[in-house]
Amino acid sequence: MTSKEIRESYKEFFRSKGHQIVPSAPMVIKGDPSLMFTNAGMNQFKDIILGNAEIKYPRVADSQKCLRVSGKHNDLEEVGHDTYHHTMFEMLGNWSFGDYFKQEAIDWAWEYLTEVLKLPTDRLYVTIFEGAPAEGLGRDDEAASIWGKHLPQERILNGNKHDNFWEMGDQGPCGPCSEIHIDIRSEEERQQVSGLSLVNQGHPQVIEIWNLVFMQYNRKADGSLEPLPKRVIDTGMGFERLCMALQGKTSNYDTDIFTPIIQTIATLTGIEYGADEKSDVAMRVIADHIRTIAFAITDGQLPSNAKAGYVIRRILRRAVRYGYTFLGRREAFMYALLPVLIETMGDAYPELEAGRDLIAKVIREEEESFLRTLETGIRLLDKQIDEARAKGVTTLDGHDAFVLYDTYGFPLDLTALILSEHGMNVDEQGFDSAMQQQKERARNAAAIDAGDWQTVADGSVHFVGYDAVECSTEILRYREVK
Ligand code: ATP
Ligand code: MG
Ligand code: MG
Ligand code: MG
Repeated sequence: MTSKEIRESYKEFFRSKGHQIVPSAPMVIKGDPSLMFTNAGMNQFKDIILGNAEIKYPRVADSQKCLRVSGKHNDLEEVGHDTYHHTMFEMLGNWSFGDYFKQEAIDWAWEYLTEVLKLPTDRLYVTIFEGAPAEGLGRDDEAASIWGKHLPQERILNGNKHDNFWEMGDQGPCGPCSEIHIDIRSEEERQQVSGLSLVNQGHPQVIEIWNLVFMQYNRKADGSLEPLPKRVIDTGMGFERLCMALQGKTSNYDTDIFTPIIQTIATLTGIEYGADEKSDVAMRVIADHIRTIAFAITDGQLPSNAKAGYVIRRILRRAVRYGYTFLGRREAFMYALLPVLIETMGDAYPELEAGRDLIAKVIREEEESFLRTLETGIRLLDKQIDEARAKGVTTLDGHDAFVLYDTYGFPLDLTALILSEHGMNVDEQGFDSAMQQQKERARNAAAIDAGDWQTVADGSVHFVGYDAVECSTEILRYREVK
């Protein structure tokens, strides 16, 4: 099945079970101080779940654009290095608001995976909540017995509170969850080690595909639990991972969601995918990041120096730097991936086509502006790395990192990433204090700056430029939020 068919089949299946199919909410969230980007399918239903909004449809399903690059869920470092975490991904989900509960949620998930999609049942594992007696929470025997109708006991595994109990926050709805994992290793490998021992252990081919959350409690301010008056089912399945399993691949990047993009990168650079680990990682990073940037822009978040805008700028710069260092790109190229992205995803997400010109223009300008300073910055950083090495030092001075940030546009995490490629790290505290000092200088300068022009008598105050001033304060704020 093609990815388009798989997405449609999910919606069709849940439509047949009485669900209203709703559109994806924007990936960019405006006006919620607790969240910058949608990071799970349930975000758009938060008010319904909290009882603050009317339940229009008790059963809904959708495919939601999600981004996990900040806050509680931050997968950025994994992306490109592993083959199944993305920055932006699609989460297929179905919900029940006070309607059906565990029985149907489990039965339908199983029916969809094994009868509709025909995934081999002997390669599936499920986890259930083992309980936390100290907190008065028992094992989720109910889920275990429902699963017991479908799988043998040895493939129903106990999971701890971290993986198998979901809470919205310190207070509010919460409950156990059940995850479905799939083992896509070769037969030969499966003979050697049982998949049982690999579930939730970070093995790239024994992976979680679907999480079914059963919200059945409400946690009160004093920490105690009471039954939730309207119980909620909240499920989330990784679309790209599902496509990988169904298309018989062992990497999300080998599915038809990504191959056309990777192929275009290969044509543009003249470098074959699969030829070398470093260029492969770079290609995966770029194929992943172009999606994030394009969707962010069309959903209303331009790259900038502030908060969510800075998150997007950092991701774009990260991709440009990978292209520069590992694929030899010296000119803007990310924008040229847009047509192929629209070809692969434009049907399901017409906002891409609608934003085509704007997205391309913004990306190209961003790339060109960063490329202007990138080379000088990289040369400077290389020199600093050599000097540090000569002294046997493995931590880059925070002030040096700040200069790279302030003058050459290197986000701190980019500097940290480059350093990590050389077995080094960065003094983040030193970076923060350099940032703070600059902020204070800017404030002092602003306090005495009454006109258009001033002569600074004290040599300690120097003009840092309006961009830099705005940038420092905003980034401090971003870092606090994070
Ligand atoms: P993982 O343990 O693999 O990081 P998770 O437990 O953080 O996943 P959930 O919050 O349960 O993920 O999200 C529901 C589903 O979304 C997961 O079962 C997985 O299939 C998918 N998913 C989660 N994070 C990503 C990601 N960064 N990229 C692609 N798919 C993801
Ligand atoms: Mg995760
Ligand atoms: Mg998990
Ligand atoms: Mg999970």
